[in-house]
Amino acid sequence: MGEGPMPLGEEIRADRRDASPLVAEMVLLLVLAYVLSFWLALNGSILREGVLLGALGLAGSSGVLAVRRAPRSARTIWLAVPIFCLLLAAGESGRLLAGHLDASTGARWLPAGALTLGAYSLLALAALRLLAGSSLIAWSLGLIDSAMVALAASAPWYTMYISPRIGDHGGSALLPQLIVPVAAAVTLVLVWLSSRAAPKAEISQFVLVEAIGAGFAGAVFVSRHLLGGGSMAPVHGALFASALLVVAAAELTGRSAGVHRSSRFSFGMARMAVVFVAFAVSLAYAGLAFRRGDQLGGFAITSAVSILLVFRLLVHSLERHHHSVRLEEALHEQEQLAVMDSLTGLYNRRFLDAELQLELDRSARSHAPVGVLLCDLDHFKQINDEHGHLVGDSVLREVARRLLNAVRNGDLVARYGGEEFVVLLPDGGKEKLREIGERCRRAFEVAPFQLPQNEEALVTISIGGACWPDDANTPRGLVGAADAALYRAKAAGRNRICLSDAGEGEGAGPLPMPEMSSAPEQAMQSGAEPWLGLSSLRSAVTGEGIVPLIGSRDDVVPMERWAALVARALGLDEAAQRRCALAARYHDVGKSTLPKAILSKDGPLSILEWELVKEHPEMGATLVELTPELAGIARIIREHHERYDGRGYPRGKKSEEISTEARIIACCDAWEAMRSERAYAAARTASEARAELLAGRGTQFDPEVVMAFLMFDEGDFEGATKALDDLSARAGIRLPKEY
Ligand code: GH3
Ligand code: MG
Ligand code: MG
Repeated sequence: MGEGPMPLGEEIRADRRDASPLVAEMVLLLVLAYVLSFWLALNGSILREGVLLGALGLAGSSGVLAVRRAPRSARTIWLAVPIFCLLLAAGESGRLLAGHLDASTGARWLPAGALTLGAYSLLALAALRLLAGSSLIAWSLGLIDSAMVALAASAPWYTMYISPRIGDHGGSALLPQLIVPVAAAVTLVLVWLSSRAAPKAEISQFVLVEAIGAGFAGAVFVSRHLLGGGSMAPVHGALFASALLVVAAAELTGRSAGVHRSSRFSFGMARMAVVFVAFAVSLAYAGLAFRRGDQLGGFAITSAVSILLVFRLLVHSLERHHHSVRLEEALHEQEQLAVMDSLTGLYNRRFLDAELQLELDRSARSHAPVGVLLCDLDHFKQINDEHGHLVGDSVLREVARRLLNAVRNGDLVARYGGEEFVVLLPDGGKEKLREIGERCRRAFEVAPFQLPQNEEALVTISIGGACWPDDANTPRGLVGAADAALYRAKAAGRNRICLSDAGEGEGAGPLPMPEMSSAPEQAMQSGAEPWLGLSSLRSAVTGEGIVPLIGSRDDVVPMERWAALVARALGLDEAAQRRCALAARYHDVGKSTLPKAILSKDGPLSILEWELVKEHPEMGATLVELTPELAGIARIIREHHERYDGRGYPRGKKSEEISTEARIIACCDAWEAMRSERAYAAARTASEARAELLAGRGTQFDPEVVMAFLMFDEGDFEGATKALDDLSARAGIRLPKEY
């Protein structure tokens, strides 16, 4: 592999793996250095400086190692550690050379002091950068919460020990004692909070900085205590405790970084509870201070608490704003991802499906053809096998680029599957299809693909094309026709374009009416006669009459035949058979008045929507009554959702109250529905549907109708017609031949 940048996840993992042991090492060394230096200072020994210098040297060299192993982004921060050690060591050496610890020697101390000051400033800067490296808002919140806890910890200390003595000692002499509880509380809370705020990679660095802070605070405490002549036991105890706290916190941070998203809420609540308790404790002790007559102390605590609270509110609202901006961005990104293919940047299949449906709807109105080219790379597997999947991926990206260059403005290119692409051509008749398809094919032939290591590969593409309405009526049918053409292109030797011939020969469906877009799934997917819309019905009513609507015998839908056959089997006369056939065709015409949203709804309908749907038999009847030729089927349409047991709609008629033709349509309609795939249910098999019909005898369906219907096999019209012809010949009934 090349020298490319390390992926982000890798970088973080490497950082955790390599730097963590060094952090522990450095923490221990620095704490040790401070402890020893101040312990030795007790004896006034020169060894103090020596040990401190040694420890700084060790910590510094560990820092150098860490710099070398750390990821580039964190290197500057790590670099601060050895430089800090160097400066501090130089400062200490300066003091050593000066020979005395007496600060009164004046100007000679200046450089040493400046170096030490520089060292601490550098460390402070590094710490600031680290903190800014995580989220500034999260860090500010952490800081405020820590301050609140620190205040709560120091308020009792102040009120119980310092405030009563202020009168005796003037207060200032006792102030240094505040450092211990404040530093301990701040350290503890900071480590705890920062472990949540910081990304994993920075946690160990936080711990380091805070350990140094804790060590320093401990050292100050020790020196004060020793200078004050106290006993050694509590000093050691305090130091060990702070070291232990830091180690425990480091341990905890290591584990808590992996806190699961779901427990973050409980963590946040726990944190709020801590802050609230701190708030209450501080106020209580402020009250106590007031009672003791220490107005200044009480006032200081109260104002500190109030200021912190206000800041917390401010930062919290900032955080919320920040989150909502992030959320919006993430949503936008998700929206993009939902329609884009992440590898090629093309639209994905989901988008194509939606767009194809839209395009067909649009074209149903404009009557402009819609073309689809299905492109599949030839022998693409070989490229993967020979050069690896990564190279395969880059080839796919280049394929996308070439296809985009080859198509026209306004054509849509989508990645349909692994190495299959679809070009959607609005206004793309057969000629356009061939022209653009040929342009796409040649875009691959003209130049080989550049592979890594200066290799080249000639990638060719096979294309299948189909267009609406010549080759198919539905989006799925259109892609299916293109797929069949693609198959022929592959079989004929690849690197070529074949157009679908589905439109020739079998006779594709006629051009759908404008309302086609709202056609129910059933009609669309069963490949049945296109949905008859309101306007076509009106034109039939006002213009040419019924005959052209019925059309030739070629476009009779199966349900018409079933209905006529069942009528015939039941011994109904020729007029009734015709009515059944007509009603089968127009039974759902009332649905054209329903809102599109209901017709195309995927999930279950609401009560209100159901109420609307239940009106469609009535609406259909009203519509067909408008034309004299269809008036005879109005009753059938009105009753085709009535049930034999009287629990149907719209009127709840039962058994003989429902016309025989309507009972026939109800049975055929149920069969059709069960056998076709719906958005909300898969198609049933013939035997499942048969079982349903049988089970519904006497309840949903007329038992006689069901038995007559089940006499013939689905689609076996010839057999059924012949059997019926024989029967009716014997019974002396004349039947219309076309059914
Ligand atoms: P044919 O000419 O018959 O189409 O042969 P083919 O090798 O192109 O077709 P086949 O369907 O056998 O193989 C398609 C290959 O495409 C197999 C699969 O590994 C590869 N593929 C699918 N998606 C991706 C992808 O996202 N990246 C890569 N690199 N390869 C993919
Ligand atoms: Mg393929
Ligand atoms: Mg292929």
